[in-house]
Amino acid sequence: MSSLYLNRLSAEDRSNLLQELHTRQSGNCFICGKTIDLQLHKNSIDIDHVIPTTLNGPDNPSNFAVTHDSCNRGKQDSDLRVARIIARFDEINEGVATESRAANLGDILKAYANGSYNFAMKAEEKTVTFSLPEVGRNDLVTLPLYVDALSGFHFFFAQLPIQYLHHDGKMNPRAIGSNVKKLIKEFHLKRPQLHVALGWITLQGNDAPKVRIFDGQHKAAAQILLGTKELPVRIFVNPDLDVLLTANTIAGTTLRQVAFDKSVQRNLGSALLADRMQRYRTDCGLAEDSESFSEQDLQRHFKGESREMKKYILDWIRSSITHHKDNKLRDFIEYGGRGSEFPLSYSTIEKTFYSFFISSDLLSTRFNHRAEEGLNPRQLEIDQIVNLMNIIAEEIFVGKFEPAIGTSRIENKVSKGEDIPEPHLIAYRMAKEEIIYNWLRYIKQVIQMAFVNAGTPFDENAPLQKPLPTNAWNNIRNFAISLKQLPLWVNRDMATSVFGGKRNNDFWKQIFEEGQTPDGQKVLGQRLDLIKMIQPQDGQN
Ligand SMILES: [Zn+2]
Repeated sequence: MSSLYLNRLSAEDRSNLLQELHTRQSGNCFICGKTIDLQLHKNSIDIDHVIPTTLNGPDNPSNFAVTHDSCNRGKQDSDLRVARIIARFDEINEGVATESRAANLGDILKAYANGSYNFAMKAEEKTVTFSLPEVGRNDLVTLPLYVDALSGFHFFFAQLPIQYLHHDGKMNPRAIGSNVKKLIKEFHLKRPQLHVALGWITLQGNDAPKVRIFDGQHKAAAQILLGTKELPVRIFVNPDLDVLLTANTIAGTTLRQVAFDKSVQRNLGSALLADRMQRYRTDCGLAEDSESFSEQDLQRHFKGESREMKKYILDWIRSSITHHKDNKLRDFIEYGGRGSEFPLSYSTIEKTFYSFFISSDLLSTRFNHRAEEGLNPRQLEIDQIVNLMNIIAEEIFVGKFEPAIGTSRIENKVSKGEDIPEPHLIAYRMAKEEIIYNWLRYIKQVIQMAFVNAGTPFDENAPLQKPLPTNAWNNIRNFAISLKQLPLWVNRDMATSVFGGKRNNDFWKQIFEEGQTPDGQKVLGQRLDLIKMIQPQDGQN
């Protein structure tokens, strides 16, 4: 931001200008909106063009703003009006980060809509009528009600104050991605797109009538962030929610219209399972909370989609584990797939923990089978996998892996002699997919041995549906401790050899089984000795 105008100012004129801008902005930084103290921030203040001169912003005080200089340096757009909006979005995201999630439309509405209201309306055969008394608009508005030719759903178009909009987190569990920043910029430049969001309302039942937005979240959020107070919406009236949910899932999976990451797909699958269970109960005249039917019953009942039913059930199990409130490993999983902050990708979790320990055979026992004794096979499977993940998390990741250091080019840094802390390096290396895949197989053996020693038959395909003998948990922990103490994890010379680049599963299988790589390079002193490794270790930490 070179400014001829600013360069020509005397120190005194500059100080007067600063004072004037400061007053005009009520004492706040133009970008972050927080206080600027002219004395305390004396040496860390910037004056910049609001509209950059490259976009024909004038080079005079009418187009100047005062900012913290760090805000100006870190700004995400050269146009300060856009930079300010993006900063606000980032702030909303940080606000919900404590809940281990990123912001969605609901959070944007909370921050920008002055109130949150139900939508009282009447539907006739061809019209809908509503009123907006909560915002002082008491006149009755009547609009045409249309029928969607293909689905047969009724819908109407309306432009509604944002106070009447709600985020549908069940139908659309995604967070707002950073691509919203591009939309903000685009809309700011006054280039319109298909702005209409999709919503639904149900006028039956006891639920308060709410307009819930389930599609078009990013565009809606961008408009609201830019200060729009009313949004155009296509609203389905009393739609078959199951159809909408399925349509939305298909859009995110098969059609790839929206980028759902895998763990979000699992969430949707588990919502679909809940819906099928509800339908099953209605069809069979069961009580609303009945669980006296089995996974196999569901699959038989919904014949036309028996493959999907199996998928929904497995999605529900995976989702229950991933989002389990006690799961300590979930903070070390990269859900987006491309990030470089966390050591385990979600896809690695599926290919290791879930593929080894979740049984994909549908159960013939009822959903509530032996639940009261704590012996329900699925519940045991879920709880014991969480337990297993927690032991791994505690021994290898928690307080050891540092997200601030992350995973980007670690081996490269090690080979250049950069000081990556040992616990971080151990966690990083042990988390590589082809490596964890192999050592988790040993843990499965530890579990098998425990069952066999206790005289309980071991089911290879459903290893965790029966309660593990107590000593098995100690053995698993001892194994994890022995494993992480192996010298190879901190051997910095191996950064360019065994740890350089991506290897396949067999490469590491051979290292663990024979102590050396397929081409004879010594990595361990000897093969892994399972019996020795499950003994309590000296010098435990
Ligand atoms: Zn600032």
